[in-house]
Amino acid sequence: MIDLTTTLVHHPYSAPNGFRAPLPGVYKASTVIFDNVAALRSRDWKRRDAYTYGLHGTPTSFTLEERLCTLEGGLQCVLVPSGLAAIANVSLALLRAGDEVLIPDNAYGPNKALAEGELANFGIRHRLYNPLDAQDLADKIGPSTRLVWLEAPGSVSMEFPDLITLVRVCRDRGVCCALDNTWGAGLAFRPFDLLPEEAHAPLGVDVSIQALTKYPSGGGDVLMGSIITRDEALHLKIKLTHMRLGLGVAANDLELVLRSLPSIALRYDAHDAAARQLANWCQDRPEVAQVLHPALPESPGHAAWSALCGGPQGRAAGLFSIILNERYSVEQVDAFCDALRLFRLGFSWGSFMSLVVPYDLAGMRSVWPAHMERGTLVRFSIGLEDWQDLRDDLDQAMAQALV
Ligand SMILES: *Cc1c(COP(=O)(O)O)cnc(C)c1O
Repeated sequence: MIDLTTTLVHHPYSAPNGFRAPLPGVYKASTVIFDNVAALRSRDWKRRDAYTYGLHGTPTSFTLEERLCTLEGGLQCVLVPSGLAAIANVSLALLRAGDEVLIPDNAYGPNKALAEGELANFGIRHRLYNPLDAQDLADKIGPSTRLVWLEAPGSVSMEFPDLITLVRVCRDRGVCCALDNTWGAGLAFRPFDLLPEEAHAPLGVDVSIQALTKYPSGGGDVLMGSIITRDEALHLKIKLTHMRLGLGVAANDLELVLRSLPSIALRYDAHDAAARQLANWCQDRPEVAQVLHPALPESPGHAAWSALCGGPQGRAAGLFSIILNERYSVEQVDAFCDALRLFRLGFSWGSFMSLVVPYDLAGMRSVWPAHMERGTLVRFSIGLEDWQDLRDDLDQAMAQALV
């Protein structure tokens, strides 16, 4: 059994003229040239062996699509210009006026914003469900529910849902489920094989999207998203919407992700190891009321993470949040973030540089979650710096601002 890391390095690729190098060629095209009029007229833009137009795919985009399918265990892939575009492409492909979509209360914020904006404008309703309560999801699925979004763990607040049970609820009710798998990245668990030994077919999600912007790129310099499926008809639906919306990705960005992908598992594990060291350190600090990291036994959803990702030795991304004691004012928490020297202030995550953002959790949730301590939430994305340097940075900033 060859490891996924090895497979990504030795993934099949043959250059058209037999040229051999570690990385595939970078083909740039809006126009694709046909041999004759008959070839132009008989083209089928959906076919992967018959190039039609740059928007519909090049040898470079098809190669990345194949590697991402390998990474996540899917069969078809559509590439889009950002992670958010992947969410939008899926929602717009699968929903129409009168339909309802269910979104976890702790979802990536812009997913909710899309539902409140364009989806509402198009006559599509949405409701939020509690991702830690499968019964709440089951109760909210109604006759017009066409799509359920899943995220594991939730953005910012890091609660890990019982994904297997949530997916089973969707399957039992015949509702399509789409996972935002940016955190898992295809490494922490297999989204299409949550329970590989299920009687009829493996239990898994119908759609997995990723912000390739995060770990697959790893550089903090690319925006891209992927939409992976295992069902040809579902893929085609998404691909038709993708074509009609005119979504494309640039060849130079494809090149950067192709260059980063072979090292994704090494980087993911390094981010993970450092984040766990720092999360543990934060747990012992008097300034910190709660540490939110699914691998910590006290963190909400820890048992679900452990069951899905393979126990205490299982993988987790390099992301965690802390809730600072409620005795600190918002101004003090801001001053703490400003006092950090190695952690930079900025959105996104998954690159080599550690980042910090304070969040207003009350403004992000319909209700204050019962499993959260009161206080101000600060999220860290751990980069590839030495973890003890990062610890010293946290220490000096706490000493300076949290007095
Ligand atoms: C970053 C992120 C996205 C969006 O990705 P962009 O490429 O920045 O649009 C979506 N979901 C999650 C969970 C993310 O962290």
